[in-house]
Amino acid sequence: MKKYLMIPGPTPVARSIQDEMGRETIAFGDAAFVSDFSSVLSELKALFDCSGEAFVISGTGTLAMETAAANSTKPNDDVLLISHGYFGDRFAEIFTRKGRNVDVLSSEWGKHVDLDLISQKLLEKDYKALVVTHVDTATGTMADIEAIGKLVSAYPETLYIVDGVCATAGIKEKVDSMNIDILLTGSQKAFGVAPGLAILWASQKAIQRRESLGVIPEYYCDFEKWLPIMHDPSKYFATPSVNMIWALQESLRIIAEEGLENRYARHIKYAHAVQKALESLGFTILADEEHRAYTLSNVIYPDGIDDAAFRNTLSSEGVQVAGGLGPYAGKMFRLGHMGNIDIHDLVAVMAAIERTLAKCGYPVQLGQGVNVLENELF
Ligand code: PMP
Repeated sequence: MKKYLMIPGPTPVARSIQDEMGRETIAFGDAAFVSDFSSVLSELKALFDCSGEAFVISGTGTLAMETAAANSTKPNDDVLLISHGYFGDRFAEIFTRKGRNVDVLSSEWGKHVDLDLISQKLLEKDYKALVVTHVDTATGTMADIEAIGKLVSAYPETLYIVDGVCATAGIKEKVDSMNIDILLTGSQKAFGVAPGLAILWASQKAIQRRESLGVIPEYYCDFEKWLPIMHDPSKYFATPSVNMIWALQESLRIIAEEGLENRYARHIKYAHAVQKALESLGFTILADEEHRAYTLSNVIYPDGIDDAAFRNTLSSEGVQVAGGLGPYAGKMFRLGHMGNIDIHDLVAVMAAIERTLAKCGYPVQLGQGVNVLENELF
C-alpha cells in the first residue's frame, strides 16, 4: 500500500526534488554548482524579503537555533523568550546553556502568550534578543510574529529571532517588513525537501551584532566563517551538501511556480478544511482557534481511542502521523499538512482516518469527514 508521510516533518518529498538528490554529485567548486548555490541564496533573500544575508548550512533546525543564539548574544546578555511548548523550551535551553540570562514567558499548552504581557515585559530590561517560535510543533500554537515584530521595533538594541522551522514557506514570514533579525528553518518542513539543511536569514542589524561580539566559541555555526561563502560559494569553509542544495533549488522552483502568496493561501485553506473535518469526526484540536497553526494539526482523541492502537492501525491503512509530546503523549496525534501536498493526499488521509476509527470500534460513518473536507476545499 502507498505510504503517506503525514508527520509534521519530514514532509512528502516531490519526485522532482528526489531526482535532484539522486544526481551524480559534482565538485562544490564546479562553476555549475557555484552558480546554482548563488542563485539559491539570492532567491531565498528575495522570496523572504531579506536585504541582509541568507545562510544554507548542512544540519537541522536545531543547528539553526544554536547558530542564532551563538551569533546574536553573549554570556550574561538578557534574552526574552516566548514559549508556546516543547520547541520554545528547547530554544530557552540552548540560550541558557550558553550562559545567557533567559526570561521565559510561557503559556499553558494550546494557549498563547498575550501581546500585552510581552509588551510589559519588554519594559523591564534591556533585552538583547526577543525569541519566539512561529509555530510550536508540539502544541500547534501559532505566534503572531508580525505583531510581536512591531513591539520589538521600538527597541533598537533588541534583536528579533524567529524559529520558523514549522512555518517557513508555508506561513507568511517577511524578514525586513516584519522587523525580523534572524529567521531560521530546516529543509524538511514546508520546503518539502528531505532533512539535512539548516537555513537562516539575518538582517544587517543581526550581522552588526555578530561583528560586535568579537571571537565566539562556536566554530561551525559562526556567521563570520560562513559569510565569505554565502557571498561567493566558490570559496571553502566546510563542504556544502551539493545534492541537498540542488534539492532546495528545485523546491524554490516549485514555490515560484505556485507563487508564494498562493502557497500561503493554500496552507490556510487546507488547515481549515482538515481541522473542520477532524472535528466533525469527534476529535478536538489542542490550540485555541485564533492561534492555530496552518501547517499541522494537534489532534486530541475522543474518549475511548487508544493512541497506540489508533496510530498503528492508521499506519497499516497507509498514513503515518506523529504522537503527542510531553503532557499530550498518548492523548493526541499530530498531523502535518504542509509543503508539497495536494487535495488528493488530504482526501486519502481523511478516508484512512475514518477507516481507522471504524476499526478501533468508534462509531463513524465512512465518508463523513471526507465530505466536510471536500465541501471546504471545493
Ligand atoms: N523548532 C521547531 C518549531 C520544530 O518543529 C523542530 C523540529 N520538529 C525544531 C525546531 C528542531 O528541528 P530539527 O529536528 O530539524 O533539528
